[in-house]
Amino acid sequence: MSKLTIEVVTPERVVYSGEATMVIARGVEGDVGIMPNHMPLVTPLKIAPVRIKTVGDKETVIAVSGGFMEVRGTQVAILAESAELPEDIDVERAKQSKGRAEQRLNEKHPDLDIRRAERALQRAISRLEATKNI
Ligand code: ATP
Repeated sequence: MSKLTIEVVTPERVVYSGEATMVIARGVEGDVGIMPNHMPLVTPLKIAPVRIKTVGDKETVIAVSGGFMEVRGTQVAILAESAELPEDIDVERAKQSKGRAEQRLNEKHPDLDIRRAERALQRAISRLEATKNI
């Protein structure tokens, strides 16, 4: 059976590169499951964990923020502003970031950049979800 090749890249580094049987990502129009020979696709991704299924029904989760996914044949490329494997996520930092964003959204200060706070909250939630600390 043919496999996918997936690469998750940020401006700083290659976060993940390997083979997969399936990739599940949250696109702007909903969750998309990519299997080998999916139709060509380019989609912006929501801030959410990406799930990579590998041989032997194993799964790797990556917290991806602000990215695009491109699918071409068996090649999947995710280019993101930031992406972390669960073992690289500082859970305490994500909890604090979540708390700060929630506080800002609750206080509703007139100068608040709501979209920025919501995105920060979503990044923290995604990181906690990727570590199952939510
Ligand atoms: P914080 O408020 O804690 O800085 P943030 O969501 O604003 O969080 P980003 O701007 O998304 O942070 O990320 C900046 C850099 O820090 C990126 O390289 C990202 O991978 C890393 N990073 C952010 N939060 C964490 C975390 N909880 N654990 C590990 N790395 C993190």
